[in-house]
Amino acid sequence: MMQTRYLVTKVPESDGCHFLHSENCQVLPELEMQDLGQFETCAPAMEQAAEIYAPLNACALCCSDCYIKTGDSAA
Ligand SMILES: [Zn+2]
Repeated sequence: MMQTRYLVTKVPESDGCHFLHSENCQVLPELEMQDLGQFETCAPAMEQAAEIYAPLNACALCCSDCYIKTGDSAA
């Protein structure tokens, strides 16, 4: 099974959230990042990052499965 390394921004990005990225992300920010280790999917990486960082979201590009869409509430 392929494993991907995931990273989380140590400082919040633009909207005040820490963001989870994969090592292969096309838009990795120029920020200091914490290496979370390797995971098969973004979900366990999100869980681990959530223990350390809040608020937390996932990159819409590299972690779209974990990306939490904000702004509009779909009831
Ligand atoms: Zn990303």
